[in-house]
Amino acid sequence: MSDNLWAALQQASSGPRPYPHPLSSFANGVQDVSSDGESTNKYDLLCPRGGCGSVILKQGVGKLIERESVKMEPPDVPSNPLLPSLPESPEQSHWWLITPNPMQFENIGFSRPVESLSVSPSGKKLKLLACAECDLGPLGWSEEGGTEFWIACSRVGYRSGEASS
Ligand SMILES: [Zn+2]
Repeated sequence: MSDNLWAALQQASSGPRPYPHPLSSFANGVQDVSSDGESTNKYDLLCPRGGCGSVILKQGVGKLIERESVKMEPPDVPSNPLLPSLPESPEQSHWWLITPNPMQFENIGFSRPVESLSVSPSGKKLKLLACAECDLGPLGWSEEGGTEFWIACSRVGYRSGEASS
């Protein structure tokens, strides 16, 4: 908590916030935001809320994985336009996999463990991941006590095009 707060304070004092480009703005989708070969994230991952843009993950830390989708919110929660709905399992969707612990993140918030919103592969409880600054989420999930952290590619912004601005 204090680490995240400190990082947030540092970021707040370091000039204009980065603009989160949504995945939908890239013509080739995940191909455009992953690096060749290793398939890691080519750009910093940002909170998708314009005006927040908190840095969630530095470039090159997450690994692009196509895997069975995981539904992260209960059906009665109104959808947020910033958080596109994900396909129903067993359909596949794209994720950034971060291992082995939350220290890999620049800023991330965790929910309390939740039960049966969603079926995780092993049936364990899930923790949902959200922006540490503005609480927007769920952006991803992890199993309680797990070493894998999954961020939905469509639910984060990308820090692209900074060099030309
Ligand atoms: Zn945010």
